[in-house]
Amino acid sequence: MYQSFIGLEIHIHLTAETKAFCGCKAHFGDEENTNICPVCMGFPGVLPTLNEKAMQMSYVVARALNCTLSPNTKFDRKNYFYPDMPKNYQISQFSDPVGRDGYIDIEIGDSIKRVRIHDVHFEEDAGKMIHAGDMSLLDYNRAGYPLLEVVTEPDLVIGEDAEAFLKSFRRLVRYLGVCDGNMDEGSMRCDANVSINHQGAGLGPKVEIKNLNSSRFVRKALNYEIGRQSEFMDADKKIDQETRLWNENRDQSEPMRKKEDDNDYRYFPEPDLPPFKPSAEFLKNVENGLCELPLVRKQRLMKSYGLNSDQAEYIHEEKFVADFFEQAVFNGADAVQVYSWLSSDVKKLLNRKGISLENSPLSAERLAKLIDMIADDQISGKIAKKVLDYIFDEDQDPETICIDKKLVQISDPGVIGKIVDEVMAAHSNVVEAVKAGDARQMGFLVGQIMKVSGGNAAPAVVQSVLKEKVLG
Ligand SMILES: [Zn+2]
Repeated sequence: MYQSFIGLEIHIHLTAETKAFCGCKAHFGDEENTNICPVCMGFPGVLPTLNEKAMQMSYVVARALNCTLSPNTKFDRKNYFYPDMPKNYQISQFSDPVGRDGYIDIEIGDSIKRVRIHDVHFEEDAGKMIHAGDMSLLDYNRAGYPLLEVVTEPDLVIGEDAEAFLKSFRRLVRYLGVCDGNMDEGSMRCDANVSINHQGAGLGPKVEIKNLNSSRFVRKALNYEIGRQSEFMDADKKIDQETRLWNENRDQSEPMRKKEDDNDYRYFPEPDLPPFKPSAEFLKNVENGLCELPLVRKQRLMKSYGLNSDQAEYIHEEKFVADFFEQAVFNGADAVQVYSWLSSDVKKLLNRKGISLENSPLSAERLAKLIDMIADDQISGKIAKKVLDYIFDEDQDPETICIDKKLVQISDPGVIGKIVDEVMAAHSNVVEAVKAGDARQMGFLVGQIMKVSGGNAAPAVVQSVLKEKVLG
């Protein structure tokens, strides 16, 4: 039996509006090479200046990951050559990162696992190389984007752990509002280190798998790599310390290059940027930037509102949805009812219209009112679905819609009695059949009464009035 160790390096684009060390716009999808200036292109004689907003977000993440914050964070030059890096060095952090020695608790299946964080450091992104036929094109818009790298200790064991970690981490940075977590657009990227060894023998040679751009690929690539290394061990072959790439078309990892050691980068202190010492006010703003973390919130949702694990999982996924849910319950609606509307009819409407809850005309107050009207027997569940459609189409409150559209439940036995008489007269043969003992025909009569009432009659009242009139 072998033991496997997985550590992750996750890069996130911070949602600052400008780049790390200049005033250029940091925005995905703009025309190539439009957001560049002498500073981010590394022209001679220019001086970088630190984006304090991005630094603040970095400290918020480090704090949320329970790190020891650096009272004096410094910048280093990491020297290497890539065509997409115009300066031939990257401003990064080596000796004094933003934070160190943290941890995060994540949920894997039914259990909670604590994963240690080695460090959190701030750096700038490189540009992007685009290969088109026999040409290679360079877009430097991304060069200089504020990037945060989070490095875990090798505490994860299998691909499923890494996938769960990545999902939790993505939720965390979205809760904190520091990254949109969009892996397709490269706002979140992941490299993974994996090593295996005989049980109890400690870490083996480290293989790094680069550029995993979805949590599914992380799982598949790591499990593949564990299998590959196990076969090497079985055959008593030496595992090379190297960097590999995941080939998603072939479902296998492939060698890329031999792994550099840190000293290959010839790190040295960045001479153009002074160390950053956070002020008391800066640190206060960092504290203000924190929020209740997703896992804590999930546990509280279960405890405070009686949701089960699946329901709480659904509600806590997005912070806005969790806030919306709590607001609706605060307005008097039943928690499980709010959950079931959000996870079924509301979700369907949002998907159909291609909008998010945040951008929809449905507010927590409107949903609470709708649920309240059903509970008060003012409308049936069926009418409520119609009202929900109208809320989305007309951006009106449920009460206004019910009055405008005459969508009020009829529960007055007198009014319903008249409809029943009408239906009984029109279908006297059916009534005779029921009286003769064919109870199955009752359903037909109920259906006719509902139809005549436009679907507005209260089903329970219809049942009792009908029974009384037919069977006496
Ligand atoms: Zn610039």
